[in-house]
Amino acid sequence: MHPMHPTSSAQFEASRSGTVPAPEQVRDDVWAVAQRMPGGHLPYSLLYLLRDSDRAFHVIDPGWDSDANWDALTAVLTSLDASPADVRSITATHLHPDHIGLADRLRRASGAPLQLHETEAAAIGSPFVTPQAAEAVERLVETWGVPIERRREIVRVADQASRFVAPRADRTLVDGERLDIPGFDLRALLTPGHTSGHLCLREGARRLLFTGDHLLPMMHAGLGLGAPTASNPLADYLWGLQRVSAFSDHEVLPGHGYRFRGVTVRAAASAEHHLRRSREVVAVLADAPDSSNWEIAARLTWTAGWHNLTNFFLYSALAQTAMHRNYLERTAERL
Ligand SMILES: [Zn+2]
Repeated sequence: MHPMHPTSSAQFEASRSGTVPAPEQVRDDVWAVAQRMPGGHLPYSLLYLLRDSDRAFHVIDPGWDSDANWDALTAVLTSLDASPADVRSITATHLHPDHIGLADRLRRASGAPLQLHETEAAAIGSPFVTPQAAEAVERLVETWGVPIERRREIVRVADQASRFVAPRADRTLVDGERLDIPGFDLRALLTPGHTSGHLCLREGARRLLFTGDHLLPMMHAGLGLGAPTASNPLADYLWGLQRVSAFSDHEVLPGHGYRFRGVTVRAAASAEHHLRRSREVVAVLADAPDSSNWEIAARLTWTAGWHNLTNFFLYSALAQTAMHRNYLERTAERL
């Protein structure tokens, strides 16, 4: 197995220092453009620009909707003697605003269709992004055993999270489908887990793997952050990691951070990160089988410390704990 190593020192340095790297060329007809994100959690997402053999352009993950990001994309296109009107397709790996936000503005300027995996497209407008999200979470906090005085805080998070509604897709993609980009061999690779219909994109001729938020170099993907499904996000995610691991000779072009090689090693590390947490839940349940979700979460190790978790971080901690417990109930595998 190849060890993991960055393939762009500029992106690597930016990622380490919390700055935003300049746009850069990845291959003859592929560019990476860092798009700024508000909030300070992560400084940027990565937009990828592909130039097809007819000299038209295709965008993967246009980024957060802002004037600065619009200008950044326009500037790169201008430097290539083109404009947003030359964009022929927009593909989003998933429905989060830091990946799909700018899609609507780009679609209006270009007439290009926005495409997503069919599951992800269906998730847009599902109850989790409507006001019912708060009601659903109200029921959830009860079953999780959250003390009454902490419930409002969590329900409010769900209410706020449901404010962003991703733009509707014009086209849907299925697993394995080849995208219509002349001169490229780009195929959809379904990798659920982070969201239910998350897509990676694999370019076979250039050996590139666009991983969105499925596989990142500097952090591990959060899970179950899209529409709820009947399946377990961790089980889905582990399956998706196996899928991308098959392309060990590909360069990874992720949704944040820096491009790198060593997909197999990184996928194994991400699987281990999540399974370690599952094993922690196993240990708590072995000791106290009747624990509520709240009681389990309180006994797990959290980077920030359990007592410091509030608002979104508390909600996320409880949701992750519930996911691990559900995973253990479903899987007969020993961890
Ligand atoms: Zn995401």
